[in-house]
Amino acid sequence: MTDNTDTTAATPADAKPAKQPRKTAATRARKGAKAKKAQAEMLEPRASIASEPVTTTHLEAPAKTNADLLARRQAAVPRGVASAAPVFADRAENAEVWDVEGKRYIDFAGGIAVLNTGHRHPKVIEAAKAQEDRFTHTSFQVMPYEPYIALAEKLNALAPGDFAKKSIFFTTGAEAVENAVKIARTATGRTGVIAFTGGYHGRTHLTLGMTGKISPYKKNFGPFPADIFRVPFPHEHQGISVAQSIQALETLFLTDAQPDRVAAIILEPVLGEGGYHPVPAELWHELRRICDQHGILLIADEVQSGFGRTGRWFAIEHSGVAPDLITCAKSMAGGYPLSGVIGRADVMDAVEPGGLGGTYGGNPVACAAALAAIEAIETEGLLARSEAIGQHMRARFAEIGARSAPYRLWDIRGLGGMLAVELVSDFETGTPDAALTKLVVAKALEKGLVLLPCGMHGNAIRVMVPLTASDAIIEEGLAIFEAALAEAVAEQIQAAA
Ligand code: PMP
Repeated sequence: MTDNTDTTAATPADAKPAKQPRKTAATRARKGAKAKKAQAEMLEPRASIASEPVTTTHLEAPAKTNADLLARRQAAVPRGVASAAPVFADRAENAEVWDVEGKRYIDFAGGIAVLNTGHRHPKVIEAAKAQEDRFTHTSFQVMPYEPYIALAEKLNALAPGDFAKKSIFFTTGAEAVENAVKIARTATGRTGVIAFTGGYHGRTHLTLGMTGKISPYKKNFGPFPADIFRVPFPHEHQGISVAQSIQALETLFLTDAQPDRVAAIILEPVLGEGGYHPVPAELWHELRRICDQHGILLIADEVQSGFGRTGRWFAIEHSGVAPDLITCAKSMAGGYPLSGVIGRADVMDAVEPGGLGGTYGGNPVACAAALAAIEAIETEGLLARSEAIGQHMRARFAEIGARSAPYRLWDIRGLGGMLAVELVSDFETGTPDAALTKLVVAKALEKGLVLLPCGMHGNAIRVMVPLTASDAIIEEGLAIFEAALAEAVAEQIQAAA
């Protein structure tokens, strides 16, 4: 599990914090001189500063090794923010990352589904740099700017639904979800929100209330906001059908959630952190019918599944259902922090002026990057590429699974290029094996592949490889995965013997 995820898997954060190096008199003197120089520079016109060579003044002696950085991290950063990898990024290009010691990794994690267009897509970087040369921030609430409007126009045109739409921007996925709820509550004059088991909607208090998994996200953080209800997600292997999910929702309307007090039902088209389970189209159709019947708004949380990941702009398009509101973030801006809510114009306009916003929401550099990322998805055929990657990887996982006797790969699933495979201790029963998953992830990293688990039981490995990755890189990654799996299984068998 990791995003968000339970990165406790490989976290080094439990170890004793390392001691900080003592400051010497020479260090202090150097610092004093630097501060004076910086002050002097601030009084100079910009051009003279720009002509100075760039130095990394924030680092006295840049640490070059992963061990150094690990020690500094442990001393300076709380263990609550866990990292899946005990190595530190130095640079990245498309589907590859290099750590500070120069070791290369293939990136199947994409910074948690942020990099559908890859690391540093040239178009994205060019657009961001061009915007940086004009201005980086005014706050849309103080002096608005065109990239925000252009992005809203683009998303209004791309999102499903044959009705007028409007879009608003924020910075994180959780913020988008919070605001979708605020908009839905205002538009309906109701308060209730219904979410699903295993769903993930963020780490703020309202979104944690909607997130359907305790550990590690919600543990010890309650109480959570009231008026949030939960329905079982249909799960073939747990014997929960779409009809049973709908039945549970109807029962909820009789027992706890008065339907005419419910503002919204929210669901991810493919459960992300919950294990890459696609929502059956039938469920979307049933939810649409029930929402229309009771005047409830339907929200698709596309934060993880959007922007080509599944072969469509938005994963809900596979179902043919149009939601009232869509939340998006992650791959929308090709690596820059940006999120948004797209929705029915009348619903979006329910909140009075000043009710929505945030200092950084819709940052101009991020909006410019998003316009470029969207253009890259369009011009490079990345929707079709997602389908092709999905089909190829499914077939390859099936082959690897068949070769991995005793069979440990189970339930290869997903939508287009958003897919996952479970690691199990018993192929017949599908018993989740989180320990094996951790071992595979650790071994893959050693061999140069970044993987990220997910799922209720932490035993699913998800694929979020950039859609711009070449076939050769994907194959190389899959070969590492197979080798890591074989080694991990052998080690597990040996340990049990
Ligand atoms: N919704 C979904 C479906 C997500 O996958 C995530 C992040 N994994 C969020 C919301 C929250 O996004 P953020 O971490 O940017 O707040």
